[in-house]
Formats: sequence, structure tokens, C-alpha cells
Amino acid sequence: MSERPRLTVLSGPSGVGKSTVVAHLRKVHPEIWLSVSATTRRPRPGERHGVQYFFVDDEEFDKLVANGELLEWAEFAGNRYGTPRRAVLERLEAGEPVLLEIDLQGARLVRESMPEAQLVFLAPPGWEELVRRLTGRGTESPEVIERRLAAARVELAAESEFDVTLVNTSVEDVSHELLALMKVS
Ligand code: ADP
Ligand code: 5GP
Repeated sequence: MSERPRLTVLSGPSGVGKSTVVAHLRKVHPEIWLSVSATTRRPRPGERHGVQYFFVDDEEFDKLVANGELLEWAEFAGNRYGTPRRAVLERLEAGEPVLLEIDLQGARLVRESMPEAQLVFLAPPGWEELVRRLTGRGTESPEVIERRLAAARVELAAESEFDVTLVNTSVEDVSHELLALMKVS
């Protein structure tokens, strides 16, 4: 076993609370490094370039793919998302734990290219609660919510592919469990 800190991948259906958990975790542990993905999705109110995402257009995303700059990428509910490769590898080389918050397809690609990665599935306490959270966030149109719920059904069925499942009932509890998995005390 190498002593290298692991790459941890957090995945789970849209609306389950991934961003909320990660934001909480980073507030308490600012030293945890979270990869910032590139996306073709438009920013939501309050989102800033380089913070939540690098917001790029289709042409720029094509270039990132063509130049091999993405560790993985996937299309999700009509937009493309990808993990910049270099920053992740640099952090791992520097001995720092790395966290990725990506979708199911991305998690599968990381498992293929980096089998030592730890895959964590964030599950909702129940389907109704997932619908409530996704709708309650109020950031997507009914049509987009439908697309995301359709994707969520597929994602929920893939839970057994992950190393660990954490149920997001309490943001604090789940952040604590995730920290323990990343072996950051
Ligand atoms: P994701 O990043 O997985 O798409 P978000 O973090 O945007 O999900 O969360 C979706 C909604 O659910 C937000 O309105 C958020 O405040 C709420 N939420 C997240 N975690 C919890 C929780 N443990 N209990 C209740 N609501 C939550
Ligand atoms: P959102 O639009 O809600 O921010 O993200 C939609 C989905 O894309 C979420 O499941 C999120 O985890 C995923 N996602 C974000 N960044 C990446 C990435 O770099 N690669 C992949 N494969 N998925 C991502």
C-alpha cells in the first residue's frame, strides 16, 4: 500500500446535497482541496467563475477535451462537465488529499483510470425527500428538474458500484463521516 493520500470521489443524484456537504466540509476544513470542474452550464445566481466551476462555452470545452486536459468528463442533463487533470495530479503528488464531486459517469471513468480512488455515494433519506430538495432549491425550471429526476433514478440504481454509501440526513454528520473516510482529522 502506498502512503499517498487517496483521491476521494463524491457522487450521488442531483439535489441530494453534494454541494451543501462539500461547502460545509470546506468551511470547517479549509485545507481540503476540492477540484474545480469546467462546465458548459450557465452559472446559477451567486456562482462565480473559478469558484464553483470554470464556466466555459462549447468551443472551449471541445478544446479541453481535444488537448487531453480533462481527467474525465461527462454530459449531464444537457450540459458537459469535466475535471481538469493537471491540478488533481499535482495535489496528489504533493501528498494532499483530493476530493472530486462528480456525476456517476465521471465516477466510473475515474474508477477505470485510477483504481485506487475511493468512491463515495451520497444517498437521500428517501425519494420524496430528494424531489423536495431538488424542487426546493428553486434554481431549475420544471423541465430541467424532470431531466435531473430521470437521471437520479439511474444514479440511485448504481449505488452498489460505490465503496461506501453515506445517507445525507444531516449535513454535519455526513461531512464528519466523509472527513473520516478521507482520513483528515
Ligand atoms: P447537489 O449538489 O447534490 O445537487 P445541493 O447541495 O444543491 O445538491 O442541495 C439541494 C438542496 O437540498 C439545497 O436546497 C440544500 O439546501 C438542501 N439540502 C442539502 N442537504 C440537506 C439536508 N441534509 N437536509 C435538508 N436539506 C438539505
Ligand atoms: P450541477 O449542474 O448541479 O452543478 O451539477 C450536475 C452534476 O454534474 C452533478 O451530479 C455534479 O456532481 C456533476 N459534475 C460536476 N462537475 C463534474 C465533473 O467535472 N465531471 C463529471 N463527470 N460530473 C460533474
